[in-house]
Amino acid sequence: TYVVTENCIACKYMDCVEVCPVDCFYEGENTLVIHPDECIDCGVCEPECPADAIRPDTDPDMEKWVEFNRKYSEMW
Ligand code: SF4
Repeated sequence: TYVVTENCIACKYMDCVEVCPVDCFYEGENTLVIHPDECIDCGVCEPECPADAIRPDTDPDMEKWVEFNRKYSEMW
């Protein structure tokens, strides 16, 4: 799965949301999150993010971001 990380906070761009084929982004007040069970790991959103906030969960130390994305995508 891909996850949204701290660079997204207060980002104004929504390019990632527009390209996602399964519509798995959820919008909060200050950030977006990706639902980790709905993401199909296509990677299309990653290069669209001008803030470089979208990372694959295979990057180092992504556990807290996976939890963050899961928690808020279920809440929003
Ligand atoms: Fe959507 Fe693909 Fe990005 Fe997952 S990797 S959030 S499915 S665009």
